[in-house]
Amino acid sequence: MHKSKLLDQFPEISYGIAVPAELVPTNAVRGEQVHKETIAWVGEHTESPIARTDALLTREKAKPLAVYTADCVPVLLYEPKRRIVGTVHAGWRGTALEIVRKSIEALKCPPKDFRVILGPAICPNCFEVGAEVSRQFDPSCVRESEKEEGKFLVDLWQANINQCLELEIPESHIEVIRVCTFETQKLASFRRDHSDSRNFSWIAQK
Ligand SMILES: [Zn+2]
Repeated sequence: MHKSKLLDQFPEISYGIAVPAELVPTNAVRGEQVHKETIAWVGEHTESPIARTDALLTREKAKPLAVYTADCVPVLLYEPKRRIVGTVHAGWRGTALEIVRKSIEALKCPPKDFRVILGPAICPNCFEVGAEVSRQFDPSCVRESEKEEGKFLVDLWQANINQCLELEIPESHIEVIRVCTFETQKLASFRRDHSDSRNFSWIAQK
């Protein structure tokens, strides 16, 4: 079980980071996750899954939100003043579309109050891509591969951190669980396994 130092400060929050499906609350709501930038508000009676949606937000208590990943970045959000929780599915496409920044901006409240937790994902030493993909990211998140000419390594965690910093979220409110899905056998990695298995991350207000 991966622990979040940030979320552990809030006794009103329960969560799981990159856990097996059976450890997700059965009433959790998830999105269909289509690598786009659609954000949905989840209400008391919202049913799961929500079609064509990659980011979820709710003010409801006892309404867990879940995101499932296998190399993409799972993002958990909490805004303790207004008591809003959220999940974001940020693969390379969602990260390039800046779905984390857009999800936080969608709330129209000061971003600095948010806590942002970036979960286990493919790390910048393993996420090798071609030039076309690499060009969609800020050069500060990209470096040339030493192993293969014409290939690049993208830091998805840093690209998402940068979106938070642009919103002036303090660094102390951003946490990265720096565990590489590709290198960690007990975690699902699509690039490694090409299977349907996924890592589940979820958050709820008790
Ligand atoms: Zn790695």
